[in-house]
Amino acid sequence: MLIELKNLSKININAFQNDLISWYSQEHRDLPWRKDQDPYKVWVSEIMLQQTRVDTVIPYFERFLNWFPTMADLAAANEDKVLKAWEGLGYYSRVRNLQTAVKEVQEKYGGVVPDTREEISKLKGVGPYTAGAILSIAYGVPEPAVDGNVMRVLSRILSIWVDIARPSARKVFEQAVRELISHEDPSSFNQALMELGALVCTPTSPACLLCPVRDHCQAFAEGVQNELPIKTKKRKVRQVILATAVLSDESGKFIIHKRPSSGLLANLWEFPTIEINHPLQTDRNHLEELFQDKAKTKVKLEKVIGQVEHVFSHLVWNLKVYVGSIDQLGKSDDWKLVSAEDMEQFAFPVPYQKVLQVYQQSLNE
Ligand code: SF4
Repeated sequence: MLIELKNLSKININAFQNDLISWYSQEHRDLPWRKDQDPYKVWVSEIMLQQTRVDTVIPYFERFLNWFPTMADLAAANEDKVLKAWEGLGYYSRVRNLQTAVKEVQEKYGGVVPDTREEISKLKGVGPYTAGAILSIAYGVPEPAVDGNVMRVLSRILSIWVDIARPSARKVFEQAVRELISHEDPSSFNQALMELGALVCTPTSPACLLCPVRDHCQAFAEGVQNELPIKTKKRKVRQVILATAVLSDESGKFIIHKRPSSGLLANLWEFPTIEINHPLQTDRNHLEELFQDKAKTKVKLEKVIGQVEHVFSHLVWNLKVYVGSIDQLGKSDDWKLVSAEDMEQFAFPVPYQKVLQVYQQSLNE
């Protein structure tokens, strides 16, 4: 037994499982991915729920399953349509990896998601948490599914004083789940831990008086629930200053650009954008030259219409938004002239959806 799990011996494991699972069976939220245990649906929902709130995910999940009802549909889909389905959810590598992995399931496993940790973990984008979630929820395999939420809950229940920001912490909590998990109903057990973290044992104000497992909770017994989990602060995020321009030609069509196929927001569409490295670059004439170099067409900037901020996990974008006009556009796959209506067909990440809103508001002023 790991030293960090010394409090396991204080827990009546059967009683803990019963209290947790009966609470879950009565109180769990009615979420669309809980309607059945289809591994594809569990998989899609778990990938969407990484870094994204449940309320936000629900409409995306329903639309995604509407557009790609089966793994065969997703495997065969055009990447632009897949990115469009994800538009606004962010962290687009998640859906690219999902599509790659689904193709592999089609080709290598005959369209059936593998049910062993060894095989499922080889699929692109399927980390230890997602593997455990699919195995336990869809296949009833008693495997841990440990994310930050579960680490917080268990660090309190077992009074574990390990820094959960450290990658090595996961092993401690996976071991804890292996000791605690119900072998009769691993699906409900893992989902109950997640649900407890979402509804009761929340980050800043755990509702201990309403908690179904309070009698088993070591942190509550010791009065230290607000001091756990231990989590060191993340490093500071980097600020990036950008200028972007909504540019139209004589016929009122807008120029848009496809971002490179790797790196941040890969293959998504944007308005022409320049990174500002020096205050002198904000001179209008100089900016026009930079936009011209980038778009390979004559650019005239009219005015600034607003400012957009977008926070990523590791950096913050500050975009100054210009409007202006362009001459004709040369032929290129990465640059397109589109009407306002046709713009709907292209997947724009959230910062550029905000830019578009700024532009639309400026038309009404
Ligand atoms: Fe969390 Fe409080 Fe319940 Fe312990 S008693 S699991 S700290 S909500």
